[in-house]
Amino acid sequence: MHYYSLGKISPNVDFKTAAITGQAPDKGLYFPSEIPKFSKEQIERFKTLDKATLAYEVMKPYVAATIDDASLKTICGETINFDFPLVAITEDIAALELFHGPTLAFKDVGARFLSRCLGYFAKQSANNKQDSAEKNNSTKKDTTVLVATSGDTGGAVANGFLGVEGVNVIILYPKGKVSPIQELQLTTCGQNITALEVEGSFDDCQAIVKDAFMDADLNAAYNLTSANSINVARWLPQQLYYFFAWQQWVEHYGDNIPMHIVVPSGNFGNICAGMMAKASGLPLGHFVAACNANNVVTRYLATEKYEVKKAVSTISNAMDMGNPGNFVRIMEIMHQDFPTLVKLLSSYSYDDINTQATITRVYNDYGYTLDPHGAVAFLAAEEFIKDHEYENTRAIILETAHPVKFPEVVEEAIGQTIEVPASVQFLLNKEKVAIPMGASFGVFKSWMLNKVGT
Ligand SMILES: *Cc1c(COP(=O)(O)O)cnc(C)c1O
Repeated sequence: MHYYSLGKISPNVDFKTAAITGQAPDKGLYFPSEIPKFSKEQIERFKTLDKATLAYEVMKPYVAATIDDASLKTICGETINFDFPLVAITEDIAALELFHGPTLAFKDVGARFLSRCLGYFAKQSANNKQDSAEKNNSTKKDTTVLVATSGDTGGAVANGFLGVEGVNVIILYPKGKVSPIQELQLTTCGQNITALEVEGSFDDCQAIVKDAFMDADLNAAYNLTSANSINVARWLPQQLYYFFAWQQWVEHYGDNIPMHIVVPSGNFGNICAGMMAKASGLPLGHFVAACNANNVVTRYLATEKYEVKKAVSTISNAMDMGNPGNFVRIMEIMHQDFPTLVKLLSSYSYDDINTQATITRVYNDYGYTLDPHGAVAFLAAEEFIKDHEYENTRAIILETAHPVKFPEVVEEAIGQTIEVPASVQFLLNKEKVAIPMGASFGVFKSWMLNKVGT
């Protein structure tokens, strides 16, 4: 197994290089040279396999020989050591709750796998250097992960990398634009995690990170890497919970009712991972991308015209993307064929008013509290089922974050305060530690260069 760049210029690399560099030098996304194909017998066996073993078997072909088996088993076990329950909301719609991880969002899965892989590779290179006695300062540098966040990514990355030796993490987040729980998740880790509170928007944070990766001085001083969902080590493990959902589905419904899957989508990494699982032979149904007002893909599927737009802000802000980075990978799975794509993927888009009203309605009618992203998915699931009513259609939605992470919107919608889950109560007693930072690359760069050697 190797990885090629969808930019088609850069040379092929192994999993290790793809994970360490994130993006190919030609700015293309890495894509696996082959999609593993599980046999009918393997799929049958997967039905009852424990989560950790299943995770190992799914990830093994992608990682190949770059991580030894025992270590990969440990990494997989740690990646998925929480629950992924499939919870019925209505007779036809169930939620795959992906918010039982340490930061209450599905991004925990990708961040945990990526952090442990980078930790493994950092340790490996430290050992190699000791062996070769070639202790040259420039190759002894720690890895520095730079990441901009609108909320969920930063928390998951901070938590995933906390205490990982040989890796430091710097998180840029927009001041006043992340929720209280999200901010505590970003700013209370300490150790190898540094939070920068940027006087600006998420776009400003992203622009600074982008400039940093291009800057010769910073690249000379640091071993920079990104932790965004473009990284194969964050993207590919997201397949795992589609397998876990399917295990629960067949246990409940047997083999004959297709499991259609609605995914609240922003950068399209999550849904693209599900489509990889299906391409590997997992018998999944139709995919539905649920979008907010940022609906490039919804319009593309309707018109075959792909028109990038500037992102607009919505209450489901983790999906505010004007140009979904991972969509090119979906096209690659589909061999760039539009008719094949529309057979497997649909998309619906909703505005904030509908989304908020749905949180209220689902709470009142079914006693289930959706977060704004899940609410967009619920609307899409209802519409998809209506469009396919004659087939006795059932669907699952991916509930990508716990509602407590979006208290302003959700509490107004349901007229109740949301209880903070026991697993994150401890955060409430912690003190925020963040470095204030102006929204300019120049300010950030001089801060970074001053830090070297301290
Ligand atoms: C990141 C995120 C999404 C979007 O996921 P993509 O993989 O970028 O499509 C959806 N919901 C929540 C809560 C998120 O944090």
